Amino acid sequence: MQGTLGGGLGPGPSAVDRRALLVCCFILASALGQMNFTGDQVLRILAKNEEQLSLLRDLESLKPQKVDFWRGPARPSLPVDMRVPFAELKDVKTYLESHGLVYSIMIKDIQVLLDEERETMAKSRRLERSAGSFSYSSYHTLEEIYNWIDSFVMENADIVSKIWIGDSFENRSMLILKFSTGGSQRRAIWIDSGIHSREWITHATGIWTAKQIVNEYGKDGTLTNILNDMDIFLEIVSNPDGFAFTHSMNRLWRKNKSSRPGISCIGVDLNRNWRSGFGGNGSNDNPCSETYRGPYPHSEPEVAATADFITAHGNVKALISIHSYSQMLMYPYGHSLEPVADQEELHSLAKRAVQALYKVHGIKYIYGSISTTLYVASGITLDWAYDSGIKYSFSFELRDTGHYGFLLPASQIIPTAQETWMAIRTIMEHTLNHPY
Ligand SMILES: [Zn+2]
Repeated sequence: MQGTLGGGLGPGPSAVDRRALLVCCFILASALGQMNFTGDQVLRILAKNEEQLSLLRDLESLKPQKVDFWRGPARPSLPVDMRVPFAELKDVKTYLESHGLVYSIMIKDIQVLLDEERETMAKSRRLERSAGSFSYSSYHTLEEIYNWIDSFVMENADIVSKIWIGDSFENRSMLILKFSTGGSQRRAIWIDSGIHSREWITHATGIWTAKQIVNEYGKDGTLTNILNDMDIFLEIVSNPDGFAFTHSMNRLWRKNKSSRPGISCIGVDLNRNWRSGFGGNGSNDNPCSETYRGPYPHSEPEVAATADFITAHGNVKALISIHSYSQMLMYPYGHSLEPVADQEELHSLAKRAVQALYKVHGIKYIYGSISTTLYVASGITLDWAYDSGIKYSFSFELRDTGHYGFLLPASQIIPTAQETWMAIRTIMEHTLNHPY
């Protein structure tokens, strides 16, 4: 699996003073049972050409389940980021150097960032408890998010309701928020975040977005027009089991937590389990892979619940799926290089959305189809949505500022959510004004 289980703090000084020991014991105790990533690094590699990219792809088979691509080999213009466990570092760096692959160390010691993240969360939790409030600039556990959903719905019952759409593999509730000012089966916008559980910035962005919708209704003309005519559905935690696991055991867990008899590895990549293009390139049939597609389309209860809800609704006109991190806004297809029928319209809409985003904090996003901008990926949410008749289907890869990867500090939650909102709003407004 990933990292090493439990206690060892890895290579350390031979003589530690009492104070350091106390600090170290405190950190250990607070993270008891958590996977430890001490000494693990994230390397960023800039491949010069296709040949170098395929040398990086070979690493996955040379070091099965050891090297964890945070950003897989795609095209020479895009960096490749990979987490390398401490025990493999020497081997992997030797491999890179011997093939003339130039790398930089993006994260020197993952555990240092994880410890900081936990401390920041604990501090914020204490403040929230004493003030009886919820901090939108902090990361939260599943339980905290579900509690927040309940109070948020109660406080804004005039336009927000909570819908249970099914249970996850481990029987956690799959919940969505519905924003509606009335009518029945109105045209709708679907937004989801957190299908990959380690992408914490996406859940936090989802939460902030919910608050923003409520805040702007009746104040911002655009959002008010949107909500007077359409409903918005928001699935903040699309992979609750994986997300709970990122808090309890392995911060870097991506898949869900399903298991099947006779298969030793756990989890399916929920963003490879959708029916459209299922089983094609850019997905894996090896259950141990981070991009394992699952045994058959919609085999995973999380995907089935979401797909069934959207299908049964029948009037979803835009779908926005939020991931991190590469600073991209993309439209279908992932599984094919062929341009979709609506390519031109989607491309110009993506361009406008990215321009609106850029105006907020000057963060530059690239845009295009998934297959030509990022990589070929099959069985993804977006392709299914588009093939199901949802023309305005988009996928975000949020901020990569400061090169933290999945470990973006909580201080970046609000700026990220603010700029993302402007792009989401642009897509929603276009959907409102272009009925089909
Ligand atoms: Zn993702």
